[in-house]
Amino acid sequence: QRERQDEQSVGGSKPKMPKGVVLGPDGKPCRSCTSFASWAAMSKGETSNTTMSKPPATAIAAAEPPSDCPPDVDRLGNHTWTFLHTLTANYPTNPTPTQQSDTRSFISLFGKMYPCWSCADDFRSWKAENAPRVSSREEFGRWMCEAHNAVNVKLGKDEFDCGKWEERWRTGWKD
Ligand code: FAD
Repeated sequence: QRERQDEQSVGGSKPKMPKGVVLGPDGKPCRSCTSFASWAAMSKGETSNTTMSKPPATAIAAAEPPSDCPPDVDRLGNHTWTFLHTLTANYPTNPTPTQQSDTRSFISLFGKMYPCWSCADDFRSWKAENAPRVSSREEFGRWMCEAHNAVNVKLGKDEFDCGKWEERWRTGWKD
């Protein structure tokens, strides 16, 4: 991915960044933008001029952040998708004009404020080509599913069958 850095040096005296570590706008590693595995690799090789805390060795082996540590890009994403799809599952079937307008505003602000800045950049680009469809629960649920699929494709994951979004996030699976 373009935003994930290959081996690099950030400034002359700072440590080399392993592949996958995403830098924030301040030039420092962005924890919310980086997988735990990459963060752990960076921490293992860190030198004394960094201020980042090291995860425990057991957590590094599991490649998953301890549950009481700040989220990596994957945990943040997983929990955020749970919120976003649940939002669509609870959206009215016939929203008022105000509800539709509030929802567009929320999506717009979400795209500006999502803590993984590189994810947010790509989300805004995708949204620019795919305006939010908020005229009904079904429309909004499908739109969110398509937004999620765009990320799945970017990450090389399988696409989800958007015909099943409601079973996954609202009604539960049909037998
Ligand atoms: P997730 O992708 O988090 O999915 C959780 C569950 O949702 C799945 O188990 C499945 O049951 C269901 N699901 C999957 N696809 C769909 C769908 N299309 N519609 C409905 N339900 C579905 N990570 C990066 O590394 N780089 C990025 O640029 C990036 N951008 C992101 C942008 C946004 C707006 C968000 C919210 C997250 C982003 N992420 C990004 C995180 C990424 O999407 C995943 O959340 C993360 O990789 C963890 O994946 P996961 O396997 O837990 O499943």
